[in-house]
Amino acid sequence: MRDVQKMVVENLYDERDSRESVEKYPSVPAELALRVYTSRLIGRDTNLVLHGGGNTSAKLKVKSIVGEEQEILYVKGSGVDLMTIEPEGFAGLDLAPLRKLRNLETLSDEEMENELQIHKIAFSSPNPSVEALVHAFLPHKYVDHTHADSILILTNQKNGKDLVQDALGSRVAVLPYVMSGLPLAKGLVEKYEEDTNIEAIVLLNHGIFTFAEEAKTSYERMIDYVNRAESCIDKKIRGKPLVTPRVDVTPPRDVVSSAARFAQVVRGACAHQASDGTVRRFYTEIRSEPDILEASLSEEAHDICNSGVLTPDHVIRTKNSAVFIRSVPENDDDLKRIVEGSVNAYRNDYDRYFTTMVNTKRIERKELDPYPRVFLVAGLGLVALGFTRKEARITADIGEHTIRAKLRAGALGEYVPIGEAHVFDIEYWRLQQKKLGGTSPLPLQGQIAVVTGGGGAIGLGIADRLLAAGAVVVISDIDEPRLEKVHSILASRYGEHEVEGIVFDVTDYKSVQKGFEELSCRLGGIDIVVPNAGIAHVAKVEDLDPEKFDQLIAVNMKGTFNVIKASIPIFKRQGTGGNIVVISTKNVFDPGAAFGAYSASKAGGHQISKIAALELAELGVRVNMINPDAVFGDEKISSKLWDLVGPERMKSRGLDPEGLREYYRQRSLLKVRVLAEHVGNAVVFFASEQTPTTGATLPVDAGVPAAFPR
Ligand SMILES: [Zn+2]
Repeated sequence: MRDVQKMVVENLYDERDSRESVEKYPSVPAELALRVYTSRLIGRDTNLVLHGGGNTSAKLKVKSIVGEEQEILYVKGSGVDLMTIEPEGFAGLDLAPLRKLRNLETLSDEEMENELQIHKIAFSSPNPSVEALVHAFLPHKYVDHTHADSILILTNQKNGKDLVQDALGSRVAVLPYVMSGLPLAKGLVEKYEEDTNIEAIVLLNHGIFTFAEEAKTSYERMIDYVNRAESCIDKKIRGKPLVTPRVDVTPPRDVVSSAARFAQVVRGACAHQASDGTVRRFYTEIRSEPDILEASLSEEAHDICNSGVLTPDHVIRTKNSAVFIRSVPENDDDLKRIVEGSVNAYRNDYDRYFTTMVNTKRIERKELDPYPRVFLVAGLGLVALGFTRKEARITADIGEHTIRAKLRAGALGEYVPIGEAHVFDIEYWRLQQKKLGGTSPLPLQGQIAVVTGGGGAIGLGIADRLLAAGAVVVISDIDEPRLEKVHSILASRYGEHEVEGIVFDVTDYKSVQKGFEELSCRLGGIDIVVPNAGIAHVAKVEDLDPEKFDQLIAVNMKGTFNVIKASIPIFKRQGTGGNIVVISTKNVFDPGAAFGAYSASKAGGHQISKIAALELAELGVRVNMINPDAVFGDEKISSKLWDLVGPERMKSRGLDPEGLREYYRQRSLLKVRVLAEHVGNAVVFFASEQTPTTGATLPVDAGVPAAFPR
């Protein structure tokens, strides 16, 4: 049995760093610079806050533009991540009018939002934290608030109040759970006024607030009290087993293949049509740390999934329960039956929960999608879902912390989550939903594209356009240095989350299969397949080395076949259609002398693609071809084909590189240069299914009459 994993938090305050922070922001008051500094210290520790959770504030006297002194509350912007917060991440609010809100009995969402907005002192500042009124009502200069795991392990217990009081001591007050907003702000300040000697307040099932006149003191109180909670837990559960291993289950034989298959099936089972008619797909994120795996294979797994969120704030990321998958069968039909059955049951439960809540609360709300976000899968670990890759990762992080905290809470005593009715209030709190922001309407949002030959100029152009259209893109190549170069170009344009690079060999079916498994484990599956890897060779038939011919057949023809074939089982498991867009060549219709191996092998790839169009239509998978011509690379990434054939062409026509480009431009009907991005635009056109088209060939060649498709 594994040892108890401690959740001790470290006091990271450093005098020199704090002074440097003040120097770093010369245009903001030192008190605010220190607020930024200690906020970042809190944000760095995932045992205190996760991804935009928690909030902090400072109260400063500031002169207005007409020279009047005002008391301003600087409170963290809603959804801003404490780990990376800057002074601009805080919203400045005129404190006096906000304090008066304490006299109100009730304040609706709309009214609170309006008050926070009209009392901002800068038009451009972010939306203030939903817990801004707490910070406004408490009188202290600095207020820090976290949802620390150790605090929640103590509060989410049958005797939570006593446990907290015993662990944290007499200078901490404990407040039963209250809804965020005006009720919480009033509850906290009233608690403080009962005993002004207290240094912190713990809100059951939610988190902890510390406060002081110095940034350092408020931060250090946070660290101190969280560690007191931690050492109390550690003492009580030391030596106790956290899980009871299940005896009725054997973990999957091939974990990678099972994880890939599971991700594909779950992705398909959770894809759905949104109210606006668009299909919404998820990305998956798998976590399989040893203790998470252990939890997935334990008797406790079912309860972990069905005992709610640690703190209501998490509900917008994870929903209130997870799905437990007891085993992953080797057979796809069995796996699909299990996953689809579980997802349907989850949806029904969610619908029932929503209907019950709106009826008992006598309110009107629009139901959010009823799909689960977290699965705990026996032998595979945690699988999280998100509409964006970032969302999937945030959900996975929260899911991991939740599992660990619940295991320790279970060993400590009787874990008692917050009731559904309270969770619903937060889940359907308008201000909370705003944190998620509007979802991007990009045409390929939620889709996963794989582009072979990703290390070349056309691969870069295709990946670039797919990324711009909202897809997450996996580029693959056999040439690792070239692949890394293109990867870093794309990552700098679109972000590390959006692009992956995987090395595999298209001529080897097993290698392609492994590559597809790997990308499914990382992302969830495949929606758009772009066989683009290709090689060229210049020789007349008479001089053509048969072995060289085999090589071109292997990459250009068999490579296309391998990539199409390997994608079919994935399309079947997902059951959500898909697009294969094959990068062919104008030579298929208009071959050139001394270019036989290339033209013939590409024509073979073209033909197999047409056959695939016939066979895959019943899966909703479309197969279309693009015939580019004369696509040169740029200074960053050259075209491998032109690196090879360019010198010979230049020699035979007596041209320099620029002259050669010009020669091809002039040769076309439209007299324009064909760019890699043009090929990418054509891929996006097919992949976004703007027309009901399959088996078609689209030239991207500026007009070459001899190559008109026929
Ligand atoms: Zn909170």
